[in-house]
Amino acid sequence: MILLGTAIGLAVIAAGFVIHPLVYRRWGLMGDAVSPDVFNSQLRKRAALTALKDVEYDRAAGKLNDADYRTMRSRLELEALEAVTAAERADSASGETSAHTCGFKNPGGSRFCAGCGRRLV
Ligand SMILES: [Zn+2]
Repeated sequence: MILLGTAIGLAVIAAGFVIHPLVYRRWGLMGDAVSPDVFNSQLRKRAALTALKDVEYDRAAGKLNDADYRTMRSRLELEALEAVTAAERADSASGETSAHTCGFKNPGGSRFCAGCGRRLV
């Protein structure tokens, strides 16, 4: 009976050890003052630029012919331009921002980078 109690106690401690960083990180992120507009516009900008880069890779790999490449690139350039403009507009509307080494602009007072998740000093 003592052995069973010890095993259950160790299992509870191990589960707490595993779960604690997840809960603590969640609290840390909830405490950040990242406005949804800034966060969403930065994500949209990143997705648009990634899609543009993917088209370049696909063309280099021979997956796209020239006509498809030109069509997709012109469409994605417009989307990226709109996304970058919207991100800059959201940044300027949110007030103070600080750029992280990953390129993501975080609102002032942020403890973690909303782009890469690293702790901001
Ligand atoms: Zn970052």
